[in-house]
Amino acid sequence: MHINSNLPKNILAWYDNNRRTLPWRVGKKSPKKLYYRLLSEFMLQQTQVKTVIPYFNKFTKKFKTLNSLSKVTEREILKLWEGLGYYRRARNLLASSKILVKKYKSELPTTLNEIKTLPGVGEYTANALLGLVHNKPTIAIDGNVKRVFARYLNKKEETINFEKFIISNKKKLFNTNRNSDFVEALMEFGALICKPKNPNCSICCLKKSCKYLKSSKKIKINKKKMIKNKDYDIFCYINKNQKIALTKKNKIGFLKNFNLPSIKETKNNLKNKNWKFLKNYQNSISNLKLNINLYYKFSDKIPPEYNWYSLKNNNEFIPSFTKRIFKQISVLF
Ligand code: SF4
Repeated sequence: MHINSNLPKNILAWYDNNRRTLPWRVGKKSPKKLYYRLLSEFMLQQTQVKTVIPYFNKFTKKFKTLNSLSKVTEREILKLWEGLGYYRRARNLLASSKILVKKYKSELPTTLNEIKTLPGVGEYTANALLGLVHNKPTIAIDGNVKRVFARYLNKKEETINFEKFIISNKKKLFNTNRNSDFVEALMEFGALICKPKNPNCSICCLKKSCKYLKSSKKIKINKKKMIKNKDYDIFCYINKNQKIALTKKNKIGFLKNFNLPSIKETKNNLKNKNWKFLKNYQNSISNLKLNINLYYKFSDKIPPEYNWYSLKNNNEFIPSFTKRIFKQISVLF
């Protein structure tokens, strides 16, 4: 599984002429490099560029440096992150920024293993940061990059051992000394040219050596992960003052430790006779499609692990999932 030695040069030449202007792409010597890259890499996990840009701008306007970000409270960062989803990223970003400031004097460690000790930084993000910040010869392998190489080689993704592939093509992949740009150029190329559907082969800079283009038996690209359907019952204590009781002690994995009413997986034939049924609605989170039955009860007494929140509350961080519940409940007042 070998690549043509011109591949990096071709992709970099394309990148130089076609790259998008994105706010985290600062000059190689910019003092903001680490902060901007760390922030954008966390935000871009599972999230599209166009969604991330306004959040990135909001954060960097409020916190000018990694140091200032590292000093915010969890409540502040969650409030600012509100709407971007996958809130664990915000907590991990805060924890990682504290470690970088305190332990590494606001520098990025220079080894992959050290970078991977930062909370929320896995193999992909560690490689991306190592390449982008330190210009180290590395490739950040995500779904986009896998697809590009799978197509280029016309081999099914699952038949390629990407680690071995990189090692055996090391000399060719890193022959430009523009490692940082190459990490980014590959991602950009996967997003704009060798896209999941309808790759732009006619204008592609790799078309001379691409096996997919030449082959009469083209590989099929894996579809996105199947969406799982789940049924949940949500039980809301409310009171006459337009307040709702929320607790962080819920056991539901996707929103663990966030403010929620009581939420339980729906059991067949369960009779919720103490609760009034309000409505059924759908809510998607990540690869889960949730079918929700919403129940409520007016009560002044709530279990000790609950706290009252105003349905009009805007100051406190409340995940969008819970805000959607607020909206449904508001029709009762
Ligand atoms: S020629 Fe087409 S399939 Fe091959 S790398 Fe370019 S865009 Fe992808």
